[in-house]
Amino acid sequence: MPSAALECDVAIVGGGMVGASLALALSALPLEVVVVEATPPEDDSQPSFDTRTTALSNGTRRVFEGLGVWDEIAREATPIRRIHVSDRGRFGSAVIDAAEQQVAALGYVVENRVIGRALWRRLRLSPRTRLIAPATVTQARGSAAGVHLDLDGAAAGGVGARLIVAADGAGSLVRTCAGVGAERWDYGQTAVICQLTPERFHDHVAYERFTPAGPIAVLPAPAGRVGAVWTLTPEEAARVMALPDEAFLAELQQSFGWRLGRLKAVTRRVAYPLALTRADAAHAPRTAIIGAAAQGLHPIAGQGFNLGLRDAATLAEVLADAPGEDPGAEPLLARYAQWRHTDRRALIAFTDGLVRLFGSPLLPVQIARNVGLVLFDLSPPAKSAMAKLSLGFAGRQPRLARGLPLAVPATGERP
Ligand SMILES: Cc1cc2nc3c(=O)[nH]c(=O)nc-3n(C[C@H](O)[C@H](O)[C@H](O)COP(=O)(O)OP(=O)(O)OC[C@H]3O[C@@H](n4cnc5c(N)ncnc54)[C@H](O)[C@@H]3O)c2cc1C
Repeated sequence: MPSAALECDVAIVGGGMVGASLALALSALPLEVVVVEATPPEDDSQPSFDTRTTALSNGTRRVFEGLGVWDEIAREATPIRRIHVSDRGRFGSAVIDAAEQQVAALGYVVENRVIGRALWRRLRLSPRTRLIAPATVTQARGSAAGVHLDLDGAAAGGVGARLIVAADGAGSLVRTCAGVGAERWDYGQTAVICQLTPERFHDHVAYERFTPAGPIAVLPAPAGRVGAVWTLTPEEAARVMALPDEAFLAELQQSFGWRLGRLKAVTRRVAYPLALTRADAAHAPRTAIIGAAAQGLHPIAGQGFNLGLRDAATLAEVLADAPGEDPGAEPLLARYAQWRHTDRRALIAFTDGLVRLFGSPLLPVQIARNVGLVLFDLSPPAKSAMAKLSLGFAGRQPRLARGLPLAVPATGERP
């Protein structure tokens, strides 16, 4: 006899950075939640919680405070106190300074695996959240009353839910099953990620350096190390990936320069092909699409996760504000999608524009962007607008990102 489906209110497919954050937010609400994750966080091949470092905005820090995981993450987070932007071989450079912007930090750099450990540790304590991992969703079939998920690996009867959340990354199967298309623009670039030990202390400065081959981001990390994201053509990336450590360090040194002195040691390198993925919609019948499943961005501005977390915080708030209602009801999902529209559109355009501006080999564009960097450095309003973006203040913010509780007491005024 076939086993019965596991029934719940909300099934989240993908327990990566964004899906696990949503699950934790929903654990504060009277909802039965199931998370299906193909690779648990303690597995070395986990694609979301890998050896990358992520730059978290101040808005993200507030969401993590609200979810009760910031104290654990903060122990291994490195504050960014300055951002230094420059163009290799040209005169323009710009600096954004935390003190000038009257904040303690412009953001925080944390290893993804630290975030994963904190989120999952807390999730495992939540009585209303059921974690099914490892298990892969192979099919999602909708009806008027709910969605049924077929699983490979566990829970043979599958999972039935009134709302299904696609948090399964840029190649989302759930998004496809829901009939939502996605546009994919291949940048023809690959990011080579590693950690470096430089001769000089980073002094909490994040560097973004534009080179003819692509941007290099160098982020401050714990124990005097720095995290590097080196963007190259796929061919160049394959070549530098195969170099012995010393030759790799010498080439990176030449592109990045000597601001941190000699680059002395490098950890294991990992390569990520870069593309822009944009879902045609953020919802479908009984389905909400969040995180990289909704938009996968180039890491040039370090905004993909921060944006995805705002998807999660917004969806959680829409559900928190509709107690007792069907969580998969169309008006709720439409409200979520509409609220996210401006933030998603603005950040996709901003990130994509940066890639194109700084990727252009045309001399007039190169001159213009260098003049732009100098003017930017001289213009307090432009700097503070950019700082606001890196601080996570763009658009209307969900309560969690403003440091407010997710659920408002029944008698309380809605903030
Ligand atoms: C090189 C690089 C650097 C970056 N740096 C930054 C940064 O500094 N700041 C920032 O904000 N963002 C950054 N990002 C973006 C950030 O990593 C992503 O936005 C984030 O990982 C998206 O998280 P997610 O949970 O939506 O998706 P993912 O991380 O893709 O996670 C999807 C999860 O779903 C699971 N899954 C997939 N399919 C199934 C299935 N069928 N069944 C069950 N489970 C499934 C996967 O195992 C995975 O755990 C960077 C990205 C890259 C590539």
